[in-house]
Amino acid sequence: MKRYLIVGSGLIGRLLAWRLCRADHYVDILSSDDLQGTGSAGYIAAAMVAPATEAITSDAMVQTIGNKSLQLWPQWLAELPEPIFYQNNGTLVVAHAGDQAEMARFTRRAEHVLSTDDYKVLDKVNLAECEPQLAEQFDLAMLFEQEAYLDNRHLYRLLAQVLATEHCRWQHCDDIESLTCESIDSNCRHYFGYGSAIYDAVIDCRGNGARQDIGDLRSVRGEVIRVHAPEVHFKHAVRLMHPRYPLYLVPRPNNEYVLGATVIESDDMSPVSIRSGLELMSALYSVHKGFSEARILEMSAHCRPALLNNMPRISRTESGFRINGFYRHGYLFSPAIISDMVAILEGDTGQVCFGEYYDV
Ligand SMILES: Cc1cc2nc3c(=O)[nH]c(=O)nc-3n(C[C@H](O)[C@H](O)[C@H](O)COP(=O)(O)OP(=O)(O)OC[C@H]3O[C@@H](n4cnc5c(N)ncnc54)[C@H](O)[C@@H]3O)c2cc1C
Repeated sequence: MKRYLIVGSGLIGRLLAWRLCRADHYVDILSSDDLQGTGSAGYIAAAMVAPATEAITSDAMVQTIGNKSLQLWPQWLAELPEPIFYQNNGTLVVAHAGDQAEMARFTRRAEHVLSTDDYKVLDKVNLAECEPQLAEQFDLAMLFEQEAYLDNRHLYRLLAQVLATEHCRWQHCDDIESLTCESIDSNCRHYFGYGSAIYDAVIDCRGNGARQDIGDLRSVRGEVIRVHAPEVHFKHAVRLMHPRYPLYLVPRPNNEYVLGATVIESDDMSPVSIRSGLELMSALYSVHKGFSEARILEMSAHCRPALLNNMPRISRTESGFRINGFYRHGYLFSPAIISDMVAILEGDTGQVCFGEYYDV
């Protein structure tokens, strides 16, 4: 049994803590966030696990890593004490008449990056069978069947509960701007009453909060709106082609939807701007008129932690490791990359799948 300190309790910190506890290790968490995780990017995320549609706009490797996560998510969620809303009905991609050029570009990229088994083109009749309310507005769609989404906030809550019952101590702290051996030691003494020498490794999971220590880490602002739309009954995640950024609409239980997201190179964490709010809401209304009577539950903004290649990285530090750079792909990549992180900590390097992205 080893003992680890995890700094940061967003998506990566709490999932890694849970996997390490499952592997019978002791874990301490130090985080400036609350137990709900409201200070993390993963809290406002749409939580799509979308390997194919994300690969189209980035890199084929996104699909490879994402496919591994797609296998792992149902297995991991089955280990939790309650069912989490995890839907693997797939993603539908649509475009309005004025955005057909975007759709054509997207289709060409799909042909180039993916295999023909990864998607189907649906005409209006097929679309009406698949997602009837979407066929009221669109004549054509692309269906990516191997994609999923989950209720991230339920996952966050459940992980916090489960960690409270495992070998885990969770301590709220002030922001730790720079993780040096000295700062870790003095924070441990202050918050836990003992020095950091007891840890086999300290793992930095601060996301955007690690920018002072990671020269090439940048923030990419994303804005989302959550709505309650009793008249709309989508089963699929829906992506709407848009000339400025890819828009999506992701269902949650009880006719709630997450609509997002802007992609703005900025570390601005201030509330959603009027421009983004108007763009997002008019896109929503254009997908189905039932959204006109929807109620706005929340408008939120946060920043995605990103590295130059927009891929995640595990790297060594003086006191252990850091794991960061999940960008738009925290949910898409976390099971795959966290499995690698656990294998590295266990010294089981033969099990590491994506070592080309690590600096260990
Ligand atoms: C609008 C939006 C939509 C998204 N949609 C998706 C999606 O559909 N699918 C997908 O795969 N990904 C999505 N993402 C990306 C995903 O949310 C991130 O990749 C993921 O949350 C990164 O996880 P993380 O743990 O590294 O960072 P975070 O989730 O931000 O967690 C960092 C944690 O560290 C804590 N912390 C920060 N600084 C300090 C400090 N100095 N001291 C102590 N603690 C600190 C924070 O409070 C937080 O709890 C989205 C992101 C955004 C913003």
